[in-house]
Amino acid sequence: MTNAIRIRRRSLLATSAAAVGALAAPRIARGAAARVVVVGGGWGGLGVLRALARKSEVELVLVEPHAAFFSCPLSIHYIVGDRPSSDFEHGYAAIDKLGIRRVPEAAIAIDRDRREVVTASGRIGYDFLVLSPGVEYAEEAIAGYAEARDRLPVGFRPFEQQGVKALVDRFLAEGGTFLIAVPKPPYRCPPAPYERACLIAEQIAKRGVKGKVVVADANPQPLPPPIAKPILEAMRAAHAERIEYLPEHEAKAIDLAKGSLDCGIADVPFTHANLVLPMRAPKLLREAGLAERWAAVRLPDFRSQADERIWVIGDAAGTPLPKSGHVAFNAGGVVGRAIETRIEGKPDAPVGPAELPAGICFAAVTRDRAIMISVDSAFVPGEGAKLRFHVDPAPSRESSEAAANWGRSMWQSMLG
Ligand SMILES: Cc1cc2nc3c(=O)[nH]c(=O)nc-3n(C[C@H](O)[C@H](O)[C@H](O)COP(=O)(O)OP(=O)(O)OC[C@H]3O[C@@H](n4cnc5c(N)ncnc54)[C@H](O)[C@@H]3O)c2cc1C
Repeated sequence: MTNAIRIRRRSLLATSAAAVGALAAPRIARGAAARVVVVGGGWGGLGVLRALARKSEVELVLVEPHAAFFSCPLSIHYIVGDRPSSDFEHGYAAIDKLGIRRVPEAAIAIDRDRREVVTASGRIGYDFLVLSPGVEYAEEAIAGYAEARDRLPVGFRPFEQQGVKALVDRFLAEGGTFLIAVPKPPYRCPPAPYERACLIAEQIAKRGVKGKVVVADANPQPLPPPIAKPILEAMRAAHAERIEYLPEHEAKAIDLAKGSLDCGIADVPFTHANLVLPMRAPKLLREAGLAERWAAVRLPDFRSQADERIWVIGDAAGTPLPKSGHVAFNAGGVVGRAIETRIEGKPDAPVGPAELPAGICFAAVTRDRAIMISVDSAFVPGEGAKLRFHVDPAPSRESSEAAANWGRSMWQSMLG
C-alpha cells in the first residue's frame, strides 16, 4: 500500500438511499477533498474536530448520540452537591457553527470494506475515520451485576453521573455503608474512585450522617502507584473513621437483596453500592476487528494497526498512556496532523523519537483541596512509550484551583 492514498471520489458519493439525516443532502462540501468521520463527541472526538475544523479541504462529520457533552472530569463536585450539573454539560452549538455535520445517532457498525459507518438510519461514507467512543463496562466480571444494572449506576461515562448522584443523595439521607468497588487497571481515570470516597466522606461529616464509606479495592494500593501515598494519607488525615480501605478485595459477585459483595477473601456488607466495573473498548471496535480488549494502535500517531484509514484515540486505545481526557483531546491534535498529511498525499514521516500527548489529572480529597498528577510521555523507537509522573506530595488549595481552571480552559477549547 502506498503512503499517499488516493481519495476515492466514489466513496464520497456513495451514501446509501437510506442516507443519514443531513448526509442525504449533497454529499460533500464544495471544494473539500476528503470526508473525515469522527465517532464520539467526547474529549478525543472534539480534539480531532477542533484540529481539523476550518481546513477547507476536509469535510467533517460527527456521529454522537447525545445532544450535549458532559464532562466526567470534575463531575464529583456535582455528585456530592457542591456544583450544578450545568457546570459540566456543554451543548454542541460551537461544533455546529463550525459547519461540522452532526449526526445525532450511535454508530452500530463499521463496514471497513465499504468504508462506511452504519447507524440505525443509514450509512455514512468516509475517507478517514477517527474513533473515540470511550469505554464499555465488562459487566460479566461481577456475577449478579447485569440483573441489577439499573440500581447500580457506575458513573464513569458521560450522563451516568445523575444516577450516581441520586444514589449518593439516598445514602446521605438514610445513612449506612456506602461501598465503592475499584477494579484492576487499566480503567478510566484511576484516582477517580478514591476521590469519590473522599468527597462522600466529607459530606458524611458535614451533614452529620450516621455512616461510612468502604472501598473494596482489587489492587494492593490506590492507583496509579505514584499517587498511593498522598491518597492513603489524605484518607487517614481528612476522613479518619469515615473511610475503611480494603486492599486486595476484588469484587466477584454482588447480592443486592442481601447487601453483600463477594470479594473472594471476604464478603463485604453494604447498604448502598457503587461498583466501578472493569473496562474495555466498546463492542463497535471489537466487532470491526480493530480491538481485542483495547484497540491496537501504532504510536506515535494512534493509527489502527488493522486499518490504515482508521485512527483510535481516547480511552478505547490500547496504549501505555493514562486513560485521561487531557491525553485524549491532545491525541486528537496529533491525529488531525496525520490526516492532513495523508490528504496532501505526503509520505508518512519516518518514525523517530516523538513527544506523546501529556496527561493531567486531579484527585480532589475535599471540596477545596486536590492532588495534581501530571504525566509527560515520549515515544522512543524500538522501546515504545516512556512515562514520567509528577505528583503533588500532599493535597493543596492551589491544585484544587488549578483543577477548576483546567476544566474551564479545556471545555472552552472543546466547545467554546
Ligand atoms: C470521575 C472521573 C474523573 C476524571 N478526571 C479526569 C481528570 O482529572 N483529567 C483527565 O484528563 N481525565 C479525567 N477523566 C478521564 C476522562 O473522562 C476520559 O479519559 C475521557 O473522557 C476520554 O475521552 P474519550 O473521547 O475516550 O471518551 P468520552 O469523553 O467518554 O467520549 C466518548 C463519546 O463517544 C460517544 N459514543 C459512545 N459510543 C458511541 C457510538 N457507538 N457511536 C457514536 N458515539 C458514541 C459517547 O456518547 C461520548 O460522548 C476522568 C474520568 C472520570 C470517570
